[in-house]
Amino acid sequence: MNKLIWEMADGLFMIRLPMPFRMTHVNIFLFLEQKGFTLIDTGPDLPGVMDALETALSAVGRRLEDCHRIIITHFHMDHCGLAGLIAQRSGAAISICESEYQTILSFSEHNGRIRRMEDFCIRNGFNSTDVDEIASTFLSFQKATSPFNANDFLTDGEILSIGGREIEVVSTPGHTRGHLSFLLPAEHFLIAGDHILPTITPNLSPDLDARDFRPLESFVASLKKVGQLKIERVWPSHGPSFKNVAERITEMIKHHSERTRITFQALDDGAKTTSQVAELIFGNHLPIFDRFLALCESYVHLVALENMAAVSRQNKDGKDFFLQQKDTLQN
Ligand SMILES: [Zn+2]
Repeated sequence: MNKLIWEMADGLFMIRLPMPFRMTHVNIFLFLEQKGFTLIDTGPDLPGVMDALETALSAVGRRLEDCHRIIITHFHMDHCGLAGLIAQRSGAAISICESEYQTILSFSEHNGRIRRMEDFCIRNGFNSTDVDEIASTFLSFQKATSPFNANDFLTDGEILSIGGREIEVVSTPGHTRGHLSFLLPAEHFLIAGDHILPTITPNLSPDLDARDFRPLESFVASLKKVGQLKIERVWPSHGPSFKNVAERITEMIKHHSERTRITFQALDDGAKTTSQVAELIFGNHLPIFDRFLALCESYVHLVALENMAAVSRQNKDGKDFFLQQKDTLQN
């Protein structure tokens, strides 16, 4: 069996839970307390994940029923899918950023977030077959999140005391609107969720419930904010921990400014839908859900260009077309 649990510091552990995706695992974090424990993130409600979690807990002499608090980095199912089931068995309190919780609720609304996502895809150039496939993927993600009630909402700068440790809540919007990271000042660790990953950049998508949220601008601002903190090691939700956070931040900011430039160039020969731009940049052989992620990422860059008045958008027959407003892009 693959290794499930690593000791990061006294009473603090990383648990690596398996996932049946190209992303083969998610890391969650365990803080031992006198009797029970607190978790940051839970893994998804998918077959085998709860068993793996219980096996990891037993290695440190804890049972799931001992959990008394669950803290969530963001609403994606691989991060909070098991929260409801764990809370049901243990009575654990659940803490999350308020806007992430609203997002989870909006997925289950009739005509809620999935419907808005369908409209978004059509408006940006997808056909209805693509959209049906994406909607069914979203429904399967929704099933991998057991329903839960949040007990309290976390805010930027708040200091939590867990198992004798101080933990600072660091709001890091970008990957999602209410994404949270957690700074452990004694160890100079950052539990980074999906904000900073070692080898890939986290997907950026529009928040269809909050049109004024600017994912790219927020993400870059959050990277710069984290760059100001004293961090010796980053513990991401996917992949191994790493040092040299400043280098990684510079790399990610450079990646996105390059991507903004490429997105602008994609419009050199005339107006295009987001889907056409995404195809030029990411190719046309991607599986459907990857095409959706590419659509979101391209859209986020087009909107950033729109915010810079470098491109504008026009609606024609229900589809949005983006066109250049300048000959060259000055950064
Ligand atoms: Zn995520």
